[in-house]
Amino acid sequence: MPSDVFLSIINRNADGILVIDQQGVIRFCNPAAEAMFGISTAALLGTVFGFPIVVGETTEIDILRNGVPTTAEMRVVELEWQGETAHLASLRDVTERKQAQAAIMLRNRAIEASASGIMIIQAGGVTRPLMYVNPAFEVITGYKTQDVIGRDAHFLYECNPDMTVNQTLDNALREGYEAACVVQCVRKDGSEYWSELRLSPIRDDNGTLTHIVGVQHDITDRKYLEAEQIETARIRASLDKERELRELKDRFLSMMSHELRTPLALIRLSHDMLHQYGRIAPEEERQQYLDSIRAQVEHLTEMINDVMTVSRAERMVEDFSPEIIDLITFCRDIVEEFQLSYSKTHRIVFECEARIVRASVDRRLLRQALTNLLGNAIKYSSEGSPILIRLDVDGRSAVIGIVDRGIGISDEDRTRLFEPFHRGHNVELIPGTGLGLAIVEQAVRAHGGSVQVESALGQGSTFRVSIPMVAVNGRG
Ligand code: ADP
Repeated sequence: MPSDVFLSIINRNADGILVIDQQGVIRFCNPAAEAMFGISTAALLGTVFGFPIVVGETTEIDILRNGVPTTAEMRVVELEWQGETAHLASLRDVTERKQAQAAIMLRNRAIEASASGIMIIQAGGVTRPLMYVNPAFEVITGYKTQDVIGRDAHFLYECNPDMTVNQTLDNALREGYEAACVVQCVRKDGSEYWSELRLSPIRDDNGTLTHIVGVQHDITDRKYLEAEQIETARIRASLDKERELRELKDRFLSMMSHELRTPLALIRLSHDMLHQYGRIAPEEERQQYLDSIRAQVEHLTEMINDVMTVSRAERMVEDFSPEIIDLITFCRDIVEEFQLSYSKTHRIVFECEARIVRASVDRRLLRQALTNLLGNAIKYSSEGSPILIRLDVDGRSAVIGIVDRGIGISDEDRTRLFEPFHRGHNVELIPGTGLGLAIVEQAVRAHGGSVQVESALGQGSTFRVSIPMVAVNGRG
């Protein structure tokens, strides 16, 4: 080969080529070597190479090129240069390859050190064999690498009783979907554990599924803790329910004994008087005793009816059947009925400034609630005192206020007012069962509404019932 062709090949070579004489001095270099050292040919020629020269072997040398560390792979052969034995060193820049290798090593070490069980599953074939598992996988499952490599990944969840989850994982492995499931697994020693398993597909540049990466965490402790918490909550709820029922029963019994005693004592008294003096007492007195017996029996019947109303109201709530009505007419009708019945004892006034107030209500249920509230306003205020029923619109709610100037409610009683059988401490001889407001609350809640109370002892009370309104065009 002519020497100029040979030189041209050397000069165009991407590898750096140097000729170094016996004294270690650089005698020739090509442009690639110049670029690799970042030093001009003129400066390189005549300088000492400075790296150990090993003929026939590939060694690595670290060069500082313009301050940037560069790694070159060096191969050295002997040759004759201008009549003397010299060395021809060919240098290849392997910096990028080294960096890539270092990154891969780092990633491998991270996978090895990870606390999550990591596995790589081969895709593409008929089965889905495991081709790598990390040490954490071995710890979690009890299987050693050699036990599982080549085994179909399906074995990991084959004992899981939830078939839907298993189907999801099968599909993810077959089709290469992402999947994250909680699976009940079995370790090599047969013990069970809960695993949070996530499968992620790996595809090549053409989008072909090549591998699937599985990551699993042992969540057995968490599962047990959750189960324990659920069980504790269940026990607590059932104890609470039991306590509530006990309290309800106690309140019911104390209300019954209290409320029954008075009418029964009065009946007994009237009966004894009639028995002893019936024959000699004047007709008018006898009639008074008989009237008293009748009144007390009526009162007792009323009480029993009240108790029955609770279960009737519960049924009404269950059969909740609302219709869109105008609340103004509805409230006015109820107020008029009360005005007629109580015209001698109370001044009952209805006020409403709106033209139309439409709401979706169950007539029977809302009537029961308003009747209870109006009945209480009358019952707990003295004769002649005024009672006001006001219908207002507040945002998207209709608010029915029942205002009296009666005995009022203490702060202590107000917090427990809606509990069944709870009666205020100031009711004295005013009869009642403590059930009316419990029914009111149930009924209003069924409408998606709420009841609020404001009161001051001896000054009166205001009950406000809010019910969601329906827009005039019929939409909520
Ligand atoms: P009852 O009136 O049969 O006792 P409720 O459930 O209707 O039962 O009322 C519970 C308690 O709330 C009453 O016992 C009373 O103490 C108090 N209460 C209810 N409404 C009023 C009111 N308008 N004024 C004063 N106290 C009231």
